[in-house]
Amino acid sequence: MTTFSFEFFPPKTELGERVLWEAIRRVEPLRPDFVSVTYGAGGSSRDRTVAVTRRIAAETTLRPVAHLTAVGHSVAELRHIIGQYADAGIRDVLALRGDPPGDPGGLWTAHPEGFTHARELVELIRSLGDFTIGVAAFPERHPRSSDWESDIRHFIDKCRAGADYAITQMFFHVEDYLRLRDRVTAAGCGIPIIPEIMPATDARQIHRFAQLSGAAFPEDLAHRLEQARGNPTAGHRIGVDHATAMAERLLAEGAPGLHYITLNRSTAALDIHRNLQTSRSLSVR
Ligand code: FAD
Repeated sequence: MTTFSFEFFPPKTELGERVLWEAIRRVEPLRPDFVSVTYGAGGSSRDRTVAVTRRIAAETTLRPVAHLTAVGHSVAELRHIIGQYADAGIRDVLALRGDPPGDPGGLWTAHPEGFTHARELVELIRSLGDFTIGVAAFPERHPRSSDWESDIRHFIDKCRAGADYAITQMFFHVEDYLRLRDRVTAAGCGIPIIPEIMPATDARQIHRFAQLSGAAFPEDLAHRLEQARGNPTAGHRIGVDHATAMAERLLAEGAPGLHYITLNRSTAALDIHRNLQTSRSLSVR
């Protein structure tokens, strides 16, 4: 069965918290397979990830997936966080290495008593109990990988360490996803790779995300969004139509699910989701 899920991030302010919870309450009646909460670069944002994820588990019918990174954590700290999740009945973790705080392209330095690669975090979580573990996948390969061969080899290591599924980085060309999936399958790993769907409704914002993630942004889409600058309704329509067409094609090509980025607003993601149900690309629950 095709899954669908939504991604949120931990808000910084009380207003942000209210907006997040409105978005969560809007997706809840759709009965998504899971919702995930990203893990911040440090300090209080991390505590907020834990708090939001636990509250979703306690107060909603949703299944929360906690993102967790190795950045700045000793193994003992990681064990403690995973234990906190287990105490709250949360058994789903997206295991990530993370990026250097403040400068995602900067030099990666592991905590002296921590991990260097996501594979080690997968191994730790697997050793701690009965968890469902997700990992990251990169349709345009990880920005730091010098070649495809090593990129796929390291991805396969995460599968062998016990990953149950993967979610991709955002991307805007379906072929990139298909090529990655074929390479992973050819290398002997059959875990579901769920494409991440980013509604591109605002040219400036998307350019920034694309730069951070390394995703190539299509010229024609950028051009149309530029022309719609100052007209949020038109930008919304362009982004939703583009993402709907991409999602339809991904599903037709056998993608096992869709993971929508919501930016805590959910409106665009919900519009894409409704379009897919109308075109019967996704069944109504
Ligand atoms: P890894 O799998 O460790 O890979 C990182 C690099 O190291 C790759 O180039 C890989 O090929 C290489 N590598 C792996 N193993 C080895 C080895 N044994 N020897 C040499 N090289 C190796 N970041 C956050 O901070 N918070 C989040 O919540 C968050 N959520 C994300 C969700 C998704 C769906 C995705 C796709 C990314 C997310 N990220 C998040 C970003 C992620 O942390 C970064 O992209 C990070 O740079 C890579 O993480 P990874 O888990 O893929 O690392």
